[in-house]
Amino acid sequence: MSSLDEAIDAIRKTRPRSVLVLTGAGVSADSGIPTFRGPGGLWRNFRPEDLATPEAFRRDPRLVWEWYEWRRGLIRDAKPNAAHEAIARLGDALVATQNVDGLHARAGSSNVIELHGNIVRVRCVREGNPRLHEEPFDDLPPRCTCGELLRPDVVWFGEALPDDAVARTVSMVAAADLLLVIGTSGIVHPAAGFATLHQGLSIEINPEASGVSAVCTYAVPLRAAEATPPIVDAILEAHR
Ligand code: NAD
Repeated sequence: MSSLDEAIDAIRKTRPRSVLVLTGAGVSADSGIPTFRGPGGLWRNFRPEDLATPEAFRRDPRLVWEWYEWRRGLIRDAKPNAAHEAIARLGDALVATQNVDGLHARAGSSNVIELHGNIVRVRCVREGNPRLHEEPFDDLPPRCTCGELLRPDVVWFGEALPDDAVARTVSMVAAADLLLVIGTSGIVHPAAGFATLHQGLSIEINPEASGVSAVCTYAVPLRAAEATPPIVDAILEAHR
């Protein structure tokens, strides 16, 4: 029996009512958005970890913005894939994502916590005031009307996650009957710790072994777009 079949079997037996879905960059890989650590993660030979930081932005805001404009363009052109669409069929299940691409909401998920912000929003480094800005900027780095720099409204390495987002996710980790962990390397904290906190059935979908594979009940070594739809079908069918 494959691990996908075993996971589906466990869902049929336990008939989970509340589901928490935790997603990382891998869920959007099938939409053509590169993960940080996979092929295409490097941009002009820079590592993402050296660009997505407050220090990099202080040192060279134009360079950091050029990278973000490239990523914003990829995301603008991308479409939700079969994994995002399957997750949206779970209705009001909570989706806590490390992604900044907004694809869960675009697929129709209504209960999404964006732990790391959203790349379509910008905010002033002095005034805050997050706002949507979808179009490319004419001049880089862009500035607020107050004259200060604008930055992407995302959480950079070394910055704190929004307290309320973490608290809501942690309380759902404790309450959920089933945790689905899809496409995360499981090494970025605190999201990486959520799988460890969960008691009960947990299923990981990731073609590679990750930092959470060992703590999940089942690790399904397949792509998100391939394995998520049958898992979601099993969850929905368990209650028919
Ligand atoms: P990561 O890049 O560190 O790891 C991605 C994981 O996805 C890997 O374990 C990889 O094996 C797996 N993966 C690759 N292709 C997959 C597929 N088709 N299906 C399922 N899994 C697949 O990503 P992470 O752990 O989410 O990294 C954290 C940081 O990267 C976050 O801060 C996030 O904001 C940022 N990030 C976001 C996006 C996005 O918004 N789409 C893209 C790249 C990075």
